[in-house]
Amino acid sequence: MYDVKSLKAEDFINDEEIKATLAYAEENKHNKELIESLLEKARPKKTGRGVECSGLTHREASVLLACDLPEMTEKIYALAREIKEAFYGDRIVMFAPLYLSNYCVNKCVYCPYHIQNKEIPRKKLTQDEVREEVIALQDMGHKRLAIEAGEDPVNNPIEYILECIKTIYSIKHKNGAIRRVNVNIAATTVENYAKLKDAGIGTYILFQETYHKESYEKLHPAGPKHNYAYHTEAMDRAMDGGIDDVGLGVLFGLDMYKYEFAGLLMHAEHLEAVHGVGPHTISVPRVKRASDIDPTVFDNGIDDDTFAKIIACIRIAVPYTGMIISTRENESCRDKVLGLGISQISGGSRTSVGGYAGYSADERPHDTEQFDVSDQRSLDEVVQWLMKGGYIPSFCTACYREGRTGDRFMALCKVGQIQNCCHPNALMTLQEYLTDYASTETRKIGEELIAREILNVPDEKRRNRAIEYLTEIKNEGKRDFRF
Ligand code: SAM
Repeated sequence: MYDVKSLKAEDFINDEEIKATLAYAEENKHNKELIESLLEKARPKKTGRGVECSGLTHREASVLLACDLPEMTEKIYALAREIKEAFYGDRIVMFAPLYLSNYCVNKCVYCPYHIQNKEIPRKKLTQDEVREEVIALQDMGHKRLAIEAGEDPVNNPIEYILECIKTIYSIKHKNGAIRRVNVNIAATTVENYAKLKDAGIGTYILFQETYHKESYEKLHPAGPKHNYAYHTEAMDRAMDGGIDDVGLGVLFGLDMYKYEFAGLLMHAEHLEAVHGVGPHTISVPRVKRASDIDPTVFDNGIDDDTFAKIIACIRIAVPYTGMIISTRENESCRDKVLGLGISQISGGSRTSVGGYAGYSADERPHDTEQFDVSDQRSLDEVVQWLMKGGYIPSFCTACYREGRTGDRFMALCKVGQIQNCCHPNALMTLQEYLTDYASTETRKIGEELIAREILNVPDEKRRNRAIEYLTEIKNEGKRDFRF
């Protein structure tokens, strides 16, 4: 039976509730009066504490997703843009994945790391290699990484992951530093999550892949990941282990997107109901071609319009949750969805183990790659492209380092301090990037942008302090200012 507060996967991601939700959404998909009232409910409202949004339930948001009336779809997009603007402004946080090891004992049928794939060379970075990769990433300008590894208790035990995190944080090459390490590793125990927390990780990311239990079991036919309940309940264990920033995601293309969408929101509602804080981020990967993987065998692939609609509806349903797209998506798709609610993107990514060090920006090794990267531009090109499109690339990692994790980050949104906090932080970290790593043209565009945007910090004292810090970054070699 559906119970949002139950700790059992099949109760909080309840199949009957999802089916009832989809039926309700189908019945109401042309109910303009209901749709208008949902859009009104979700609209940002000024309150005594700043601007607040109520979000929508999984049932309500599913009606928006099912609606195919063009005029209503336009209104859904407009509201998604309004919410994105209210909480995230034009800022887009940058990150890169770092693949540590592709050893894996699972048999996930969509993933090239599956144990039966004999085509792919297996590789695990030594600590020296981690160091080289991190220096290469720092030299590109990255400050935030997501580490990735296959599941293999012998080759990639938790001790190995912890050692890598320690190595990553310890490296200070020139003005470089990795200030936030997010972790995307297989579901594990409360004790191991507590160890990751102690190692100072940012977000713990784990994609559900699919919320549909039967499909899940077929797509993960063997190995520890086969266990649907253990995987689905992982975020509860992570939170019990003290991690309060967790990142959800579905691998779109595996099962029916409307089912996944309802499941994803039910998972978010569950975390909020049980732990008092929803997911920090939601990722929206789509299945890609890879060694031994043909994405066309998964017949639930979604087109770019559906993808954009999903992103807009997630933005409306969970307004305080960041949304991430990776370089699985190409430039034009990224362009289409950025304004609808995306708050973080990767840039200059390599999905192979050891893909950064020793390769120039246009050389990429494919042998150990996890999937084809569609956006193959360098970080500098992505940063410049974002700025030309009216966005502010941000390398900010301040919130988690200032202890603003979990619900404390939401509080910042609610008291309307974003423009006094996130905005100058984005500009100061962008200035660091421009001074240390950017091409001449990117630097010119960026410094003009900063000069314009710094005037939009509402609080005068804060604005003046940020202007001083910017000068110190540019002229005195100082780094790492944050509010
Ligand atoms: N091994 C960990 C696990 O099982 O959760 C996480 C790391 S895995 C490297 C990261 C994610 O890549 C997976 O959760 C999956 O969603 C995604 N992925 C796997 N194969 C893919 C493919 N062919 N195309 C796109 N994404 C894929």
